[in-house]
Amino acid sequence: MGSHLSQLLLEKNNEVVVLDNLYTGSLSNIAHLQDFDNFTFVNHDVTHPVSIEAERIFNLACPASPIHYQKDPVRTIRTSFLGSLNLLDVAKTAGATILQASTSEVYGDPSISPQIETYWGNVNPIGIRSCYDEGKRASETLFFDYHRQYSVDIKVARIFNTYGPRMDLNDGRVVSNFILQALKGDPITIYGDGSQTRSFCYVSDLVHGLYLLMESDPDIQGPVNLGNPVEFTMLELARLVIEMTNSNSSLTYLPLPGDDPKQRKPDISLAQQKLGWSPTVELQAGLKEIIRDFEARI
Ligand code: UDP
Repeated sequence: MGSHLSQLLLEKNNEVVVLDNLYTGSLSNIAHLQDFDNFTFVNHDVTHPVSIEAERIFNLACPASPIHYQKDPVRTIRTSFLGSLNLLDVAKTAGATILQASTSEVYGDPSISPQIETYWGNVNPIGIRSCYDEGKRASETLFFDYHRQYSVDIKVARIFNTYGPRMDLNDGRVVSNFILQALKGDPITIYGDGSQTRSFCYVSDLVHGLYLLMESDPDIQGPVNLGNPVEFTMLELARLVIEMTNSNSSLTYLPLPGDDPKQRKPDISLAQQKLGWSPTVELQAGLKEIIRDFEARI
């Protein structure tokens, strides 16, 4: 899950099927699952209709890293919209529960902090991030319309920044960039002045949250924020990574990309109340794991 939130998982009688979309990298992240009899990998593009038996569907399709989702923006928004539409049709036919991996990006560059699910967001509809933000917002709309119109069992998670071992070394997001740069002794690339904030959730916490949401009462549809509410500036993150890797990397300042949100911190009261979920892995402990993983792979 770390490297690419682009696979779709369908679960039927304990079988897991992964359908892949936009995945151009290796399949090494699922290599360890290939020997299980109840695991099947299906290479299918979710922007095309699919017919499949399922009881639970996790729709994780769509790259989440700005540099990757901006490479082919039309394909990105197609994946969110048509992928959701096709999978909602599968859920409707099969009577399955379907979970949508939505995102904190639906809040855009938020004017309130922390962000709570009732906040409608501050999103530029025509900017370079819009293919992702508006794609995910349209997916949420589709999910709730399929629920109201066709009584499909839906769950919508709004995932905040997540990191962990097995992320693609070239993912391009901040945690993996900083670690790679620090381990190689390259300059750490700070976009803007580094005062913008993010809140980083460790992958195992997120997976646990997604699982609890999927297994929650049918009257819980969400959207539910899933993320770690401890907020850091990018400069604080850079200093922490340098310290933890004993690196002699310097900092280099690059222009801030367009529409880059200035702050991001989830209000997780809803997840705490409805799912009994809170993240347990602090940034330093999580960084230790991903640094070890990156050291082994570089
Ligand atoms: N960022 C940075 N240096 C990098 C990559 C990202 O300073 O090498 C900043 C980026 O401008 C943003 C934050 O780190 O403010 C998080 O960026 P990321 O791409 O990880 O995800 P986002 O939350 O923006 O989707």
